[in-house]
Amino acid sequence: MKNCVPGWRTTFAVFPALLLVTASAVVALQVPEKGGRFDALLVADPTSSLDVATAPLGSLPVGDRARAGWEQFRAAHGQAWSIYLDRRSGAPLLVEGQGIAWPTGEGTTIDSLAASLREFVAGNRTLFLADGAELVLDREASGPLLEDVWQVAFNREIAGIPVAGERYLFTIGHGKLISFGTPRWSRIDASPFPDLDEVEARGRLAAYMGLAATEAVDLVEKPKLEFIPLRAAAPPATAAFGAYGGAIGAGYASALVWRVVLRVIGEPGTWVARVDAHTGAIRSFTDDNRYARVKGGVYPTSNDQICPDGCEQQNYTMPFANIVIGAAPQTANTLGVFNCTPGGSTATTTLAGPYVKVVDRCGPTSQSVPCSADIDLSTSGGNDCAVPAGSSAGNTHAARTGFYHLNRIAEHARAWLPTRTWLTSQLADNVNINQTCNAYWDGASVNFFKSGGGCRNTGEIAGVFLHEWGHGLDQNDGGGFDNPSEAYADITAFMSTHVSCIGRGFRQAGNCGGYGNACLNCTGVRDQDWDQRANHTPSTPAGFLANNCPAGSGPCGKEEHCEGYVGAETLWDLAVRDLPASGLDLASSWQLADKLWYKSRLGSGGNAYNCALPDSDGCAATSWFSRLRAIDDDDGNLANGTPHAAAIFAAFDRHRIACGAATDAGNQNSATCPVIGAATLSATAGSSAAQLSWTAVPNSVGFRILRNDAGCDTGTMRLSVVTGTSFNDTGLVNGLGVYYNVQAIASNSACDGPLSNCQAVTPQSAAGTVKLDAAVYGCAGGIGVTVIDGNIAAGTTTATFVSTTETQAETVTLTRIAPGSATYAGNIALTGNPPTPDGVLSVANGDTITARYIDANDGAGRSNIPRVTTATADCPPPPQGAKPVADGSFGAAMTGSRIGASGSTIDVAWDVATCASADHHILYGDLASVASTTVLGAACDLGTTGSASWSGVPAGDLWFVVVGDDNATTEGSWGTDGSGAERGLGAVSGQCGVVTRDNSGICP
Ligand SMILES: [Zn+2]
Repeated sequence: MKNCVPGWRTTFAVFPALLLVTASAVVALQVPEKGGRFDALLVADPTSSLDVATAPLGSLPVGDRARAGWEQFRAAHGQAWSIYLDRRSGAPLLVEGQGIAWPTGEGTTIDSLAASLREFVAGNRTLFLADGAELVLDREASGPLLEDVWQVAFNREIAGIPVAGERYLFTIGHGKLISFGTPRWSRIDASPFPDLDEVEARGRLAAYMGLAATEAVDLVEKPKLEFIPLRAAAPPATAAFGAYGGAIGAGYASALVWRVVLRVIGEPGTWVARVDAHTGAIRSFTDDNRYARVKGGVYPTSNDQICPDGCEQQNYTMPFANIVIGAAPQTANTLGVFNCTPGGSTATTTLAGPYVKVVDRCGPTSQSVPCSADIDLSTSGGNDCAVPAGSSAGNTHAARTGFYHLNRIAEHARAWLPTRTWLTSQLADNVNINQTCNAYWDGASVNFFKSGGGCRNTGEIAGVFLHEWGHGLDQNDGGGFDNPSEAYADITAFMSTHVSCIGRGFRQAGNCGGYGNACLNCTGVRDQDWDQRANHTPSTPAGFLANNCPAGSGPCGKEEHCEGYVGAETLWDLAVRDLPASGLDLASSWQLADKLWYKSRLGSGGNAYNCALPDSDGCAATSWFSRLRAIDDDDGNLANGTPHAAAIFAAFDRHRIACGAATDAGNQNSATCPVIGAATLSATAGSSAAQLSWTAVPNSVGFRILRNDAGCDTGTMRLSVVTGTSFNDTGLVNGLGVYYNVQAIASNSACDGPLSNCQAVTPQSAAGTVKLDAAVYGCAGGIGVTVIDGNIAAGTTTATFVSTTETQAETVTLTRIAPGSATYAGNIALTGNPPTPDGVLSVANGDTITARYIDANDGAGRSNIPRVTTATADCPPPPQGAKPVADGSFGAAMTGSRIGASGSTIDVAWDVATCASADHHILYGDLASVASTTVLGAACDLGTTGSASWSGVPAGDLWFVVVGDDNATTEGSWGTDGSGAERGLGAVSGQCGVVTRDNSGICP
């Protein structure tokens, strides 16, 4: 278990004379909202990213020394050995085959085997490239795997200093050495005598980390020396040899390093640094903390059971969940990731984070797990108070769903409105209140009701959460409530969901009534797209409000929910109709509408427009129309319009809450903005990380990184702003998809460029897996193979296949399924033909098919881990259509001649050239029964020569026929009679071991 070593606290002395640090860390100019102070200093562990250069022995040039040596090995121990070398080292990655006698049995011990293996290595020193003194028996990893299968492992040490990740592994099965090899065996050329002592190394590290002399640091373990391999400078990749184009054995260099592990009090992370003991360079700097995640089932959009977004989905993030380990509280990050230190501790959440606290009327919420397993709040069936088996009473659908959505919307708003303290304070989320068919904001908390009365549970519906939260923002945006606040709340909901139907599934049946202008396809409370309602008419004060809405306290004196249609439809129109009509793509339109909306919320209050029915307009400094224009303006002059003035006017004027005329100069598009295009974004999945890169955009000064975990069609989170064209996003969750856009920005805040394409990325563990698309295959067709590995980097990788029939591996190239993906897919065809190296795998019935993927780097310091999976071939040979014997209607008819006077022997000859069967036999019977062909007996197994001497022929008058068979259980046609009918029809003779009859075979 990591991180369980009790540390001792120390204070680093910083050595001013040693401040020169030679490592080149990648530092992006970025403003991350998350992470710790040392995240930007990461230097990847070089030992985990060394690519071995797998070379089958046969790929080495004839006459090469290594090849000649291993050919001698084969000459001594048999030819049936598969041998793969690492071209970088020349050492054997894998040698496996027919086995070398290696007695095991009573009295065998790890030590006795180790001793004999050392002798073996010593006797083959030029093949192993290992010195006996380097091999240190690894007793933890050695021992019997099964009663008669032993494994012996040796770690590598030089001058008593361990070499990271290098070991030889031997397998002895059933009395034979059957396999051995090393994942890496680098050439260690660094001196084992350090130039820097431990204290100097710690000083270099302190300088690199920028630690103040007074800062408290826990050293987790005593610093120790180790050798690490490095990639040697080498000629570029070649087609023949792949990524490593250098000479055999010249692919590795090495370094002697001090391994220092420490924590800085008050900062996240357990930092593992490797400081070069000769030069002081920081060779690696990584966070070794074990992280776990808090997650659970959430309704993405609705609980209406219309899947997928109306059904509960597992593994949703619980963002910013509170975690308690021991007495130490912490907050999970935006993806629910928390730091499990020390490993094995019990971690507990009560869904009461800094931003959202769930208060579930079904009972308290509290889930615990020994970490570093994830806290999985899981999913359940049922309604309202139903919880997953064994869960706390408050771990309900509503608790999980609300915690997710409310945290997300608040996080989204914080990026736009960083000064609003309401967004950083804890909001109470009361769910499963014992009422039905409503939800409310009470001035301090959001409140949601159970199911019943024709309504679903309102605390399980995204749009309802977002709407009530919108009221909360309205009250707390610095300007008090806007009027109508209902429009404000609906707009806030659809800015996040991009769905005009607010609260889909609120009603258990039927569409919303729409105050006489019925929703056409919305089971929620309102549809804010006027074209999705019966009248297909934009709502205006003089129209819909005057004609349909009851009296109330909206600006036009109408009931607020009804009157809210005018303002909400306006913002919907802006995002999906008017901005796109002005030439923006839809995603960029949503992003701009979101910005105009949120940025104009600060201090917003009072009437959203002027109204004295039938008249209405937006001619007020406080109107939404004016506020949006002020945010959109780029040059301090509204009289000359704004970059998107025409679209804003069109949207507001359609609902009669704009100001002025379309022809006014102020309502024209006008921009001093430079032309800024869209970047083209690409992304690569890493382990808990995503590497983004994008094309440069002229006239931009930086890029806004946008991310969310919901999809490409919903509102995004502003993550950070960078000036370069790449970004490494860390702290992600393996297997959890995230979605990115980047947006070029100008120095003028009104001059954003359009969004890039949206890139989905699913980070994957660096530990690779290989999977086949079935467990059983026929002997034709093909096999689909998938490799998932988060750190391949290249666009392709390979897997190899062998079968019981074809033991020399066939190699398949797998291609990354999409940019940014960690999944690679390929195919290999199957054949029943004999094996040959042709990219097609030969199989026979019952074969085991083995796929092997060599995981170059498992992300945990080990290289070249074979990942193996198997399937079987199931393709029994079809019943042979045993061929008929030529009867003269084709080929030459059978002939017979009696030998000797007794007649007990007859020489029979038949045509096998025209129509060959696998075997033949004679059937005979009494001539009197020829019409019914009743069989009396047979002469069996007459072979394929076409002639036989039938001895012991019974006395009497007989009929006989020669019948072909398949040399197994099936006999062929007995021939046809004069009328063309099959003799004996389908009856099996039962002679000569046959149990089936097949008349279908035809000749010629
Ligand atoms: Zn409301």
